[in-house]
Amino acid sequence: MPELPEVETVVRGLRAPLVGRTITGLWTDWPKALRPHTPDDFAALLTGQTVHAITRRAKYILCQLDDGLLAIHLKMTGRLYVSGAPESGDRWVHVRFTLDNGQYLHFSDARRFGRVYLAPTLDDFAPGLGPEPLEDDFTPAVLRDRLARRQRALKALLLDQAFLAGVGNIYADEALFRAGLHPRRAASTLTDDETHRLYDSIRAALRAGIDYEGASVNWYRKPDGTAGKSQEHFFVYGRDGQPCARCGQPIIKIRVAQRGTHYCPNCQPER
Ligand SMILES: [Zn+2]
Repeated sequence: MPELPEVETVVRGLRAPLVGRTITGLWTDWPKALRPHTPDDFAALLTGQTVHAITRRAKYILCQLDDGLLAIHLKMTGRLYVSGAPESGDRWVHVRFTLDNGQYLHFSDARRFGRVYLAPTLDDFAPGLGPEPLEDDFTPAVLRDRLARRQRALKALLLDQAFLAGVGNIYADEALFRAGLHPRRAASTLTDDETHRLYDSIRAALRAGIDYEGASVNWYRKPDGTAGKSQEHFFVYGRDGQPCARCGQPIIKIRVAQRGTHYCPNCQPER
């Protein structure tokens, strides 16, 4: 699933073709993506609205309209791109927006888990999101307070969008490796020093992901259709059986919180 770096890259790539454009129409063959609206309701509310800004919160792409937000969650296989032709030859396009300059915003989604929202505010469809890890108000003290009350495994907590927004399976594994912390470590047992390391590591892993424009390990592509390069710089994710970049021991894959979890048993010892 696209995580914070992938969604941030999509947001940056959509600003040039979309900001300032007015949406003039909507087509879909997958009405479920627009619920609770019907396609007709959705089109009636959306048509004629101008996109004034595009931002990201957690894994949501947020288009600020004259009145409210058009938001998209890519889920597993979603892709967004703008082109000049209504039929892009992409059989997985299930929602398509017409723009006032004759171009189209395509939402391609092979698995059809993606969702499109139209609402006054983010809280109307995504309440209770945790702090945004790259914002200034997310500090080591904030992380310490949030860890202190919890007994859950670090990996499980990092995946919880109410604990911290935007981190998923890839960048949780990468952050824990950078911090030298075992994925099953109980959150409340971290020392101050370890908490600082985890804080720095979360931000470093996410920033690296953004710098390399996301990880194209499966469906994710940038809006220009090209692949991100984050996967070429992973320490542990998808590298089970390969030598650790720091110590040379093989990376191991286990399951934590029902998710495949990659770590180095030497650099991330279980206490
Ligand atoms: Zn190692």
